[in-house]
Amino acid sequence: MKSRDYSNATLTIDLSALAANYRLLVDKFVGRHVGVAVKADAYGIGVERAAQTFFAEGCRTFFVANLDEGVELRGILGPGPEIYIFEGISADRGGVFTANDLRPVLNHLGQIATWAEHAAATSNPLAAALHVDTGMSRLGLPGQELDILLAEPERLAGIDLKLVMSHLVCGDEIDNPSNNNQLRAFSQIRNHFPDVEASFANGAGILQGPEYHFDVARAGLALYGGNPMPSLPNQMSEVIQIKAKIAQVREIDSPQTVGYGATHRAIGPARIATVPVGYADGYPRSLGNTGFAVIDGVRVPVAGRVSMDMITLDVTAVAPEKAAPGCEVELLGGGVSPVELARAAGTVDYELLTRIGSRYHRRYVDTTSSGNS
Ligand SMILES: *Cc1c(COP(=O)(O)O)cnc(C)c1O
Repeated sequence: MKSRDYSNATLTIDLSALAANYRLLVDKFVGRHVGVAVKADAYGIGVERAAQTFFAEGCRTFFVANLDEGVELRGILGPGPEIYIFEGISADRGGVFTANDLRPVLNHLGQIATWAEHAAATSNPLAAALHVDTGMSRLGLPGQELDILLAEPERLAGIDLKLVMSHLVCGDEIDNPSNNNQLRAFSQIRNHFPDVEASFANGAGILQGPEYHFDVARAGLALYGGNPMPSLPNQMSEVIQIKAKIAQVREIDSPQTVGYGATHRAIGPARIATVPVGYADGYPRSLGNTGFAVIDGVRVPVAGRVSMDMITLDVTAVAPEKAAPGCEVELLGGGVSPVELARAAGTVDYELLTRIGSRYHRRYVDTTSSGNS
């Protein structure tokens, strides 16, 4: 990670909030263990500090999307904690899995065969999760493949099944009937594997209620301060804040357009502040003329298009001394909720977080102990 010591835009990550969010989910969870999803660089906040924080809180089960992320995470955590790879295994990667003590999520019969062959070659039972599809039609064994597996259980020879899992389609919606349909389907499937722990709930699934919990959860977004149930008030603590310093302020007294394409017209008198964060930093270009920021408690709109390296804000409503060059603007967190900003951008907080760019000065803070690092 480059140091970015001179950046006028700062990304602050509150590790004590991250820990508090993990504890909140653990408190709600009635199963054995809350595992965490730290894929995509821990949803943009940085996998190293995130994984260490969860480990310190007692987490011993981690999920990542792909093998590269798994190898990196093993290097961070050292030997011991369980690491599952959602994408599963492809032929010729078996050695990388065993060398790094990684567990594939087996998503189809071909992956089961690959892992069983690797187990036979190493003459050791090899741990894995089995993913069955209950409605996503994405990864996981479809019904026909599950039937074949149940009829031919020798396909699992040499595989030490640790988890049987499935994934919710509409977990973020409180009353969607598909949740209960998937729950019933999964409950039947897991009965075929009575000695294997079951994993069903993502972060939203934990909030759906105890019947969704089973043994091991796979929490993600909620840990990072996102709202797993966007129709309800967010119970999670805020982890991420982005602030930037105003670079320049333009006084406008006769009608004048702002930014590329002249999509905003300031009639005047108005003040336009330029802030050094743009789409190259992950600030969505779709927030042109629809996004907002907060200065000194006042919400100010994005005026004109988002540029690569900057945005322009209409700060007419803010006292001039609070919206001068060098003054701070909250772009995310604080007065700017990730869910609300994501909605304005036509996306979800998941995408907003995972696209956060690399040009920020990154600060990790722990508000409960010794301070900054
Ligand atoms: C990403 C992911 C999770 C975590 O989901 P959140 O909605 O972020 O809590 C859990 N399970 C699977 C299969 C995933 O891909």
